[in-house]
Amino acid sequence: MSHEYVANLHMHTPYSDGTWYHDEIAAAALRAGLDIICVTDHNVWVDGPERYYSAGDKRLLVLVGEEVHDASRQPQRNHLLVYNARRELAAFAPNPQSLIDAVSQAGGLAFLAHPFDSNVPLFDYEEISWVDWQVTGFTGLEIWNYMSSWAGLLTSRQAAVQYAFKPELGLVSPRPEVLAKWDELLVAGQHVVGIGNADAHGLEYAYWGLRRVLFPYEFLFRQINTHILTSHELSGEFGPDRLAVTEALGAGSCFVGYDGIGTTRGFRFTCHHERASQGMGSVVDNRAGVTLQVVAPAPCQIRMIHNGVEIGSWKDVTSATQILPARTTGAIRVEAWRNHLGQARGWIFSNPIYLI
Ligand SMILES: [Zn+2]
Ligand SMILES: [Zn+2]
Repeated sequence: MSHEYVANLHMHTPYSDGTWYHDEIAAAALRAGLDIICVTDHNVWVDGPERYYSAGDKRLLVLVGEEVHDASRQPQRNHLLVYNARRELAAFAPNPQSLIDAVSQAGGLAFLAHPFDSNVPLFDYEEISWVDWQVTGFTGLEIWNYMSSWAGLLTSRQAAVQYAFKPELGLVSPRPEVLAKWDELLVAGQHVVGIGNADAHGLEYAYWGLRRVLFPYEFLFRQINTHILTSHELSGEFGPDRLAVTEALGAGSCFVGYDGIGTTRGFRFTCHHERASQGMGSVVDNRAGVTLQVVAPAPCQIRMIHNGVEIGSWKDVTSATQILPARTTGAIRVEAWRNHLGQARGWIFSNPIYLI
């Protein structure tokens, strides 16, 4: 029995380039119905605001991580999201491998942030992709970053105007390059955890003489989130809950949900075999065959992907079952697609189950 907590794990405060402080962001996250946030300012670990916040009978676990990058590098690349290191690691930024190693030594998790970003010439924005792909030992990839996906839509002035007001018309799925890279790493035998986040800053944009916050924190907390599944219910005690959440995230017991087009709460991807049932992130010794089970919270198209190759597709269903014979090995992940505003859109991206 797993317990599901909706988390957003990438956002900024005025300690770097955001606009709201931790308590204001926490209030927005509570309004949006989140259970967990992790604040990730650029090159500063803000020690202090971590605790449970509450409003009425709702509580929110507020964690503080860090988004580390080499500020002197030109051009800017290689942003790393660091969770639960609980110490300042920005000094390691010039060497991404040393940084990832320092995160591991500190008991933290390291995720490559917005690994495939793109230039926006219209706004003189230069992309911040990950480029040092020879690194090893990182926890996973931020497969979907709302603000990076949105920026990718701004290919003309007309598109910019349209997607400023109706971003949901443009947002379709994680960038295909990041899914291809994820599969490539999985095929190579690496365990790679996928997460999805806002990258909220609460910035004001000026246009036509108006100043407006285009993407308020609360709006973004209702869009792309990481749903974390823990084996035990969180207790409400900060220390043990922080560890339980970190452990589940590090193990890949989570999925990415585009909650903006319909809540993804309740999605499950499990593997059943003679000895037990196991969830996302599990390593399963496939000696006698397995049954893979997908449950979605609303009708959708379910796709099952084995080592980068689709092995099953079910249209307009809320569940799917696939039997795999003994000694089939490799990483199996699931995507759920759903029609919204006249187009099929990526809705849920599971983490893999690893058959050995
Ligand atoms: Zn970044
Ligand atoms: Zn960021």
